[in-house]
Amino acid sequence: MLETNEGTKEIAEEIRFRMQQNPDRTRQIGTFGFIELEDTWGDEATILNTARVSTSNRRLSGPEAFSDKDRALLEHLLAEEHGTPFETVWFRYRFIAPIFVLRQWVKHRISTWNEFSMRYRKPISAFYIPDEKARTVDGFEVMTREQTDRYSALLETVNRFYEEEYDTICRRIDDLRHTGELPPKDGGRDPYRARARELLRSAMPVANYSDVYWTVNFRSLLNFFNLRTKETAQYEIRQYALAAYDLFGHAFPLLRTTLEKASKRQKPSGPP
Ligand SMILES: Cc1cc2nc3c(=O)[nH]c(=O)nc-3n(C[C@H](O)[C@H](O)[C@H](O)COP(=O)(O)OP(=O)(O)OC[C@H]3O[C@@H](n4cnc5c(N)ncnc54)[C@H](O)[C@@H]3O)c2cc1C
Repeated sequence: MLETNEGTKEIAEEIRFRMQQNPDRTRQIGTFGFIELEDTWGDEATILNTARVSTSNRRLSGPEAFSDKDRALLEHLLAEEHGTPFETVWFRYRFIAPIFVLRQWVKHRISTWNEFSMRYRKPISAFYIPDEKARTVDGFEVMTREQTDRYSALLETVNRFYEEEYDTICRRIDDLRHTGELPPKDGGRDPYRARARELLRSAMPVANYSDVYWTVNFRSLLNFFNLRTKETAQYEIRQYALAAYDLFGHAFPLLRTTLEKASKRQKPSGPP
């Protein structure tokens, strides 16, 4: 078993705390995966108020003030894919996902990313292990349990390699400082340890987890839902997209039901 480093333990502890504190806005995905809808700005009323700027002075205080006419307008705007009113509502998700999922997610350029950096911290020492469902297509086990065991052993070796090599470098730095061959650290970042992290991170696999804050407007979020909850999206990002959709729907029930009514596409098939 891979021994998790201190930073990873802290993250795991924080996730447990967030899930306890905020069960309606958090979801666990697989063994180490996680997503939380941390914050939102605006609501269904924001969409109608901004859409009506040139047609009326009527302003709604919130979704509870909606009449049938307001609901019909919201449905019309969604069905006709009016763009900018949906850009006035914002979401911030935090998610912990394998790097290969992040590579797909980051292609959604109309959004803001803040990601964990291995330049400043050691990697998260947890990696994605596909469960039986992930390994099976139409009843055919594409990757067998034995292969999965070998896959896990290989990833453990790489993770252990990082920890051992980093420790070795840190010990050497400390020894050389002790003998005066390296200058003492003068506050701030240690340049030698920092360079060690920069070099060693190149060995880390895309199955390792990373940690992201993702801030996105509703128009772009809809595009993400459309593309990444589909059967054609890769299984792993789909799990995150379905969870993100479920969390959005929980926070904005009127918007979700109106969207599903207005949408020509199939509604996503629920949370993972
Ligand atoms: C099943 C699937 C397979 C994929 N395979 C690959 C792959 O093999 N390789 C790969 O690189 N990507 C791949 N992608 C990613 C895909 O090409 C898109 O980059 C990704 O889905 C983001 O979509 P987007 O550009 O609509 O989103 P965003 O980047 O968030 O853009 C949102 C919208 O803004 C507009 N927009 C954004 N930037 C521009 C621009 N520069 N010019 C004009 N309009 C713009 C477009 O209307 C766009 O739809 C795949 C995606 C899916 C869902």
